[in-house]
Amino acid sequence: MKTLLNQADIKKGVEKLAQEITDHYGERPLTIIGVMTGCIIFMADVIRLLEMPLRVGVVQTSSYDGVDRGRLKINSEMMPDITGRDVLLMDDIFDTGHTLKEVLRLMDELNPTSLKSAVLLSKTGRQEVDCSPDFVVFDIPDEFVVGYGLDYEDEYRNLPFVAALEPADIQSVVK
Ligand code: 5GP
Ligand code: MG
Repeated sequence: MKTLLNQADIKKGVEKLAQEITDHYGERPLTIIGVMTGCIIFMADVIRLLEMPLRVGVVQTSSYDGVDRGRLKINSEMMPDITGRDVLLMDDIFDTGHTLKEVLRLMDELNPTSLKSAVLLSKTGRQEVDCSPDFVVFDIPDEFVVGYGLDYEDEYRNLPFVAALEPADIQSVVK
């Protein structure tokens, strides 16, 4: 596979994001909600750089198969109460944008005081929706990437860097 972002790149980007979040919210209490499972490493690194009073929770998304193919299923059972709170949604990657848009729509119905979004990666030229993340750490080319939380068939999440998969990598994953 081909490395797109090494550990030093990611560290610098994550530190810059933490500073932007701090500049925006100051000392106001913040609730961060991560989209499982891709957010785990990114969220863990960012929250440890934040010093405001912080609550952390998660939502899980997945796609239906069959008739409703392409429709998103969102499990928000593990999400803490966000009504009347400043909320920041964190996801690994903004691709077509449908995931982020739909999760934000559902969260907005719970009447948070404010609602923003942050992603580690945004794929150039793939956006299909009329909303974009408020904070983007890296814009990347339109390639399938893994590592730093992102998976292929549930593997590679533990890689400490972000890499684009090549055909040989795809064949080597045991199904
Ligand atoms: P969207 O709804 O924006 O099209 O897709 C977002 C979701 O698709 C991400 O949360 C992620 O789970 C998955 N995804 C999109 N592009 C990639 C990619 O290049 N690599 C991996 N591992 N997941 C991706
Ligand atoms: Mg995801």
